Amino acid sequence: MKKNFKKICSLILCVAAVFSLYATQAYAATNNGSCGENLTWTFDTDTGILEIGGTGKMKDWSVSSTKPWDQYKSDIRTVIINSGVTSIGSYAFGYFKSISKITIPDTVTVIGSSAFKYCTAVYEFNIPDSITSIGNEAFYGCKIKNINLPEKLTDMGYRVFTFCDALESIVLPEKLQTIGMYAFSYCTALKKAEIKGNTSFGDGIFYGCSALEYIHISLKTKNISNNAFLNTTAYICAAEKGCDAETFANNNGHEFRLCNNHENTVRVRGDVDGNGQCDGQDAFLTDLIVKGLLSANDIGEAGYKAADCNLDGVINDLDVELLMKAGLMLIEIEQYETDITTNSEAEKAPQIKFRLIDIITEILTYIINLLR
Ligand SMILES: [Zn+2]
Repeated sequence: MKKNFKKICSLILCVAAVFSLYATQAYAATNNGSCGENLTWTFDTDTGILEIGGTGKMKDWSVSSTKPWDQYKSDIRTVIINSGVTSIGSYAFGYFKSISKITIPDTVTVIGSSAFKYCTAVYEFNIPDSITSIGNEAFYGCKIKNINLPEKLTDMGYRVFTFCDALESIVLPEKLQTIGMYAFSYCTALKKAEIKGNTSFGDGIFYGCSALEYIHISLKTKNISNNAFLNTTAYICAAEKGCDAETFANNNGHEFRLCNNHENTVRVRGDVDGNGQCDGQDAFLTDLIVKGLLSANDIGEAGYKAADCNLDGVINDLDVELLMKAGLMLIEIEQYETDITTNSEAEKAPQIKFRLIDIITEILTYIINLLR
């Protein structure tokens, strides 16, 4: 009997010891651990910051697998990924709707599939320049308004930005080789899209983008597949007639317009031909516009807009005159304008006279140079 009692006691002690060991282990594992061969994570319950550090790749997860920080799903406010980490694992932060800030270092080159899917409280993502690949549905359902896709990006999966209904514009960088189907589908606030390189498009990359006004296509973009831009009424534009973009538009029922690069909404005033400066050529083109010999369709809308160099809403002789005078740089137009508009009436007359002498001298010099 005594023996049995001893046995039972030691058994109870044993169970208690094992249980306490398990309990402390479970506790210790709650706010830190491993998330890749050489990566660790720590969650601070006070600040809501999840920090990931170490070197190399993060583990990839699936929709059904448990991420190490799953138990903090509604507590994580900020994610800080430290320098040295080279990838964001698939599903790493997908459906974490309490995260509002994510910092990604420039050691990361890969964003895994669904990595930030439905991170609906993040309004801004700074994707570092180092990213070369973005996985399927990585930003699906996010509320970002703008995103700068890095210049080094070569591959994008399917439905990467689907249902990002706050996104307003997008530029697909020059080195992008492939973009998966429906990449920007149902981005209902998307107004402008610009494609810079020779990218191979999956079907319907702007499918259901009902607000999309235009898709500007680079002259480098070749052999656009017929299904690339299904279900959007956007017009297609490019800088040259007869290019692949125009052929594509004609074959697929899109309107085609000639225009220069839309990035240049800040095109230098007066730079009608888009060569980066105001010169005699711009004055010449503007004169042709004034005489009705050139239209917006001939020179593109950006160039046409630039011809109104004093921004008074009309293209007339004054623009031609200003451009002849400018010859050199925008700053001169501005200076000339300020001079004639801000000086008092009394000062104005001699000022203008002085300027006119200047202009005439310049025009004469220009002509003399031409005749040489
Ligand atoms: Zn355009």
